[in-house]
Amino acid sequence: MKNRIGTTGLVFNEPLLWEQGATGRTGFSMPRRDVDPAPLDDRLRGDGPDFPDLSELEVMRHFTHLSQWNFGVDSGLYPLGSCTMKYNPRTNERQAALPGFTGAHPLLPPELCQGALKLMHDLEHYLAEITGLPAVTLQPAAGSHGELTGMMIISAFHRSHGGHRSKVLIPDTAHGTNPASATLCGMRPVPIRSNDQGILDPATVAELMDEETAGIMVTNPNTLGLFEENIREIADIVHDRGGLVYGDGANMNAIMGIVDIRAAGVDVLHLNLHKTFSTPHGGGGPGSGPICVTDRLKPFLPVPRVVKTGDRYELDDNAPRSVGKIHTFYGNFGILVRACSYILSMGADLKKVSQLAVLNANYIKERLRDVYHLAYDRPCMHECVFSDAIQEKNKVSTLDIAKRLMEYGFHPPTIYFPLVVHGAIMIEPTETESKDSIDAFIDAIRSIARESADTPEILHEAPRTTKVRRLDETLAARKPCLKG
Ligand SMILES: *Cc1c(COP(=O)(O)O)cnc(C)c1O
Repeated sequence: MKNRIGTTGLVFNEPLLWEQGATGRTGFSMPRRDVDPAPLDDRLRGDGPDFPDLSELEVMRHFTHLSQWNFGVDSGLYPLGSCTMKYNPRTNERQAALPGFTGAHPLLPPELCQGALKLMHDLEHYLAEITGLPAVTLQPAAGSHGELTGMMIISAFHRSHGGHRSKVLIPDTAHGTNPASATLCGMRPVPIRSNDQGILDPATVAELMDEETAGIMVTNPNTLGLFEENIREIADIVHDRGGLVYGDGANMNAIMGIVDIRAAGVDVLHLNLHKTFSTPHGGGGPGSGPICVTDRLKPFLPVPRVVKTGDRYELDDNAPRSVGKIHTFYGNFGILVRACSYILSMGADLKKVSQLAVLNANYIKERLRDVYHLAYDRPCMHECVFSDAIQEKNKVSTLDIAKRLMEYGFHPPTIYFPLVVHGAIMIEPTETESKDSIDAFIDAIRSIARESADTPEILHEAPRTTKVRRLDETLAARKPCLKG
């Protein structure tokens, strides 16, 4: 058996289960035999599977050790910009685990799953209220899947109104999934430059918008954490040429209960339930990216639709102009339950969520502006973007700063995104952090700014306290080493 360094601090040299235990050790007790033993048929004897012999406690400790190698929002502040790593209240997990929900088979006829259908119907209604866009589908399994569905709807709309349009306008601050979604729908992304304020200029949009262009994809607030304040004017320009406005609502955490998306001129918007409406994410697990549309786009939504007739809920497949099915059954149902639970438990305080998220980001921005270069010096929304321009002079990069933060016990912010900021450091604290934990983060990253002038070599060597040091990230993703 491999050595293990006692139990002080984190245990990093955890052996495989096969390297632990001892023959005959077991994790369960069989009831005492109360019948006579009978010989086992020889054909059933074999070598048996190669399972290690372990006690229950050994298994428990093994998986607990492994879980501690990771960093989650439950371990500490996780200011990953654009990802909204807020705390996920446990009550949502509890509702999602109710046996009536977990045991409901998706092939149950509607009369046997009225509760689940009601939940979906209610959630659609809440999301419509929150966004101002009246019709909703809950099927898409991620934000990017919502984008794809939305672009399919925009494409179907144009086909039903005079023909295919081949281009889509996409700002240079957009998430990479935006051009990918447009391309998958057979449209060519046309990049638009943001102005020196970090937002879109209506004049630039007017120059590029023509009758060949299906519309525009706008993230608001954008990935610089800035509100696209010309959105209404831009939407009018696009609509005047027969185009539609796609809203990337991944940053909805900044504007819930404050901005009416439909009044802003958006025709289709996706939400990331796993970001804004509280589902654990970040590990590549299931997500949910509902889209909300205007009345005129409702006929194109995916089927089946959940409809209410009298006090009964039914599934309706009868929609001749629908883009069809985009997910098996109804989407990732467990996440819908969590989102519904979150929205109901927050109630009118959803507005306060956004207010606090914006306040926290601006607080960090103001407390760091003297030691880190601020990419755009204006009030931000729920996240703020710095760069390594000051530290670069001491040959310290954004990557060094991020790796050193891990040694201070924080998850690094998003780095090198958005692409329009060289060496970007994008910080999103979310509303769920207390002032104490935000102050602790500020102290740490300020201290790193000092170190980058005084002892830059410490930053170049970070991280030294983690299971692995600096990885070749491409190789790590292509050929993951799972043996530890
Ligand atoms: C996260 C994000 C997306 C994609 O959402 P997924 O659920 O990860 O597919 C799209 N746009 C923006 C701005 C995002 O932050």
